[in-house]
Amino acid sequence: MVDALETQDIKELKGVGAAMAEKLAKLNIHTVQDALFHLPIRYQDRTRVVPLGQLRFGDEAVIEGQVSGCEIKMGKRRSLICRVRDASGSICLRFFHFNAAQKKQLENAGRVRCFGEIRRGSTGFEMYHPEYSIIDDGDALEGNDQLTPIYPLTEGITQTKIRQICEQALDRLTPYNLREWLPEPLRQQFSLPSLADAIQFLHHPTKGTDLEQLKQGGHPAQYRLSFEELMAHQLSLIGKRHMAKTDRAIKVPSAGALSDALLQQLPFRPTGAQQRVFQEILQDLSTGHPMLRLVQGDVGSGKTLVAALAAAATVQQGYQVAVMAPTEILAEQHYLNFKQWFEPLGIEVAWMIGKLKGKQREAELARIASGEAGIVVGTHALFQESVTFKGLALAIIDEQHRFGVHQRMALREKGLQAGFQPHQLIMTATPIPRTLAMSAYADLDCSIIDELPPGRTPVNTIVVSDQRRNEVIERVRHACAEGKQAYWVCTLIEESEALQCQAAEDTAILLQEQLTELKIGLVHGRLKAQEKADIMAQFKAGELQLLVATTVIEVGVDVPNASLMVIENPERLGLAQLHQLRGRVGRGQAASHCVLLYHAPLGQQGKARLGTMRDTTDGFKIAEKDLELRGPGELMGSRQTGLLEFKVADLQRDKGLLSQVQQAAATLYQDYPEHVSPLLSRWLPKHQQYLNV
Ligand code: ADP
Ligand code: MG
Repeated sequence: MVDALETQDIKELKGVGAAMAEKLAKLNIHTVQDALFHLPIRYQDRTRVVPLGQLRFGDEAVIEGQVSGCEIKMGKRRSLICRVRDASGSICLRFFHFNAAQKKQLENAGRVRCFGEIRRGSTGFEMYHPEYSIIDDGDALEGNDQLTPIYPLTEGITQTKIRQICEQALDRLTPYNLREWLPEPLRQQFSLPSLADAIQFLHHPTKGTDLEQLKQGGHPAQYRLSFEELMAHQLSLIGKRHMAKTDRAIKVPSAGALSDALLQQLPFRPTGAQQRVFQEILQDLSTGHPMLRLVQGDVGSGKTLVAALAAAATVQQGYQVAVMAPTEILAEQHYLNFKQWFEPLGIEVAWMIGKLKGKQREAELARIASGEAGIVVGTHALFQESVTFKGLALAIIDEQHRFGVHQRMALREKGLQAGFQPHQLIMTATPIPRTLAMSAYADLDCSIIDELPPGRTPVNTIVVSDQRRNEVIERVRHACAEGKQAYWVCTLIEESEALQCQAAEDTAILLQEQLTELKIGLVHGRLKAQEKADIMAQFKAGELQLLVATTVIEVGVDVPNASLMVIENPERLGLAQLHQLRGRVGRGQAASHCVLLYHAPLGQQGKARLGTMRDTTDGFKIAEKDLELRGPGELMGSRQTGLLEFKVADLQRDKGLLSQVQQAAATLYQDYPEHVSPLLSRWLPKHQQYLNV
């Protein structure tokens, strides 16, 4: 292609010397094409005069009218107020800086035309320091038949300058010199304008274009670009997955006798969803390529059993399985579960946490290294160098959101033997909104356990001010008197674990003073693993009636007889975390309750969030709401946000496009493979362009 804009240096444009080029580089503008992709952040409509009766607060508008009075107001700040009327209404221009001549000029002006933002002032509609000119009747509005673009800037570049640069770039744009990587049939299928048209339009939307639609990102030209960008991300993920499929892993050809035996000894039958997800896993395990599967299932949906079935199938083939949990409490619980399920079947289960020392540690390490232990359960201590497996074929990682991607990779390294990689099964109870799943986790295949075991009653949630704390304490007394058990969860906004633990300790003492007849336990992050485990065991056995805890009990803890949970200061926690906590109750037959004991007064956001918790127990709905209220950055933690930075797309806004984008990306990958890499280099930062996992 001759003279493609991507090969034309920005310095070829008039008025761009070395110094300007350096400043433009800060905006990622190096070539003429880059200038075209430097899109306005918003627009001004100077194409028409808006009748005063049609103004809305917040708009920027051109207005025109008769000056009907000018006066100086003293108020907090001295200002000149000038009232302007037309047949439909009126507005006041307000100047804080003015002189006598200006006042006089306006008084005698007759008609004025102004441009500015419409604000809410003490007189109603106001414009502060508008651009204005005095006009004779009949003066037409000059020259503007396009919306005026406002571009993102950087130091040393003015709006006028960047407009000149983009103008020149647009002048060079022809249908032939901007590479179009979305083939015609695809564009037709998804009703997308051509790239050149979209770019042209976005720099200069024509008169009459709906500004509101542009603001929402709802114009087809905007779709076109978001679509292409999202597609580029999707393609890079498809590429990653594709690469993974060329790696080798142990073949697990079928479920085998061991998983049947495991099912035989259970007091219940797996739900349809558990069976389906197990089949999906088996399918992956049988291919000879490493599985990378994320299992999402709401709290209590029975993910552990699915993991155990996958473990059984793998152990059956003579290989080892590692089960990793983010906290010791949770690891311990898995350990007990797996032991209870597997030891009767003749499979040994080993145990590895950081605090394990001395002889016991040596013994466990030996069992893991020799392969005697078919299953190893632990925390991230499983990564320690001293831990060597005889033949690790499957790594199960529970509650993935607490582990970084690199930890996932580290475990994979452990299992790298003779060119074979372990399969990975990742389980999360923090439902990941579809929108995020697609971008942050799209290198994983995804299964969803969308059914709870029968007989569960949804948790009833109430939102109560802490002014009624005593009533809530009475409620705990009452529930425990009926033989039920309860959690009392203390939250603290401070990062300091010490303070958190202190708060929980204080609360436990206070509660014990009021609830003298109850046996109260306390768990927090500062207890020794053994102490924690002992207390959890006592609570599980019913020896303790009330468990005061920090958020350490957030994930995985399973005590079906506990049916009441009080969460103090729930307004401090994210929705996903509250949902996790609440999932600790509602696990048995009895109707369960969760009391969100907030500290008044609640802000607007706080109200909305606690309201969501009260109104739904559907983890996916809660996750979507959380995303809406807090944005993807906060939801995923800073670690993952890098994955979510887009130039023009906005996951929340454009989520309606995602399934089409996925479809289009698959087609492109298949039918136009030579378009993939140019699209990646157009949209993705360099380090993400390489298709390695
Ligand atoms: P989560 O998905 O939150 O990890 P668990 O695996 O801890 O859930 O399971 C929650 C509880 O449900 C456990 O007590 C488990 O034994 C029980 N359970 C799992 N599957 C079933 C089933 N199909 N029928 C009845 N109870 C089940
Ligand atoms: Mg679990």
